Amino acid sequence: MELDVTKAFLTPATNFPFETTVTLEPQEIGGETITFDPVALRGTYSAYDNVVRVEGTLETIAHGVCALCMQPADAPVKVDFSEQFRRDADELEDTAFRYEGKNVPLDHMTLTLVLLELPIRFECAEGCEGSEELKAWKKNNPVSSADVGAPTQHPFEALRSLLNEEPEQ
Ligand SMILES: [Zn+2]
Repeated sequence: MELDVTKAFLTPATNFPFETTVTLEPQEIGGETITFDPVALRGTYSAYDNVVRVEGTLETIAHGVCALCMQPADAPVKVDFSEQFRRDADELEDTAFRYEGKNVPLDHMTLTLVLLELPIRFECAEGCEGSEELKAWKKNNPVSSADVGAPTQHPFEALRSLLNEEPEQ
């Protein structure tokens, strides 16, 4: 999606409101496919000296898989942003994004901001019991009375850290 910022060049240093939607391709992250609802962007743009500033809020819902029970899990994503676009920007080295002509491409910026805001892992619900395998594991590894009340680590926390140790790819 490209934002036409012609007006901003005609009246520099003035904020113009915009509202648009960006569609993101599914992303492979850590062996999982994350999909996204259309991202709603709302805010203003302005130009000064060939630098375009786009600021506002973006919102979407990311769809992944619960790290505990492997069922579908959603994560709402909301980001307040203020980004610069420059004609000569090197996106690999600069903090600014690149634009050409009178159009500012929003796809790359949106994807970058959304990915940065994703949770480290998805959970279908707070306190998810986990998969059948996980429940069986817990049943076969009951908390001994000696551990009860131990302030060091909750047994479920230990299990979590086990699950987090994914093999390197
Ligand atoms: Zn779950």
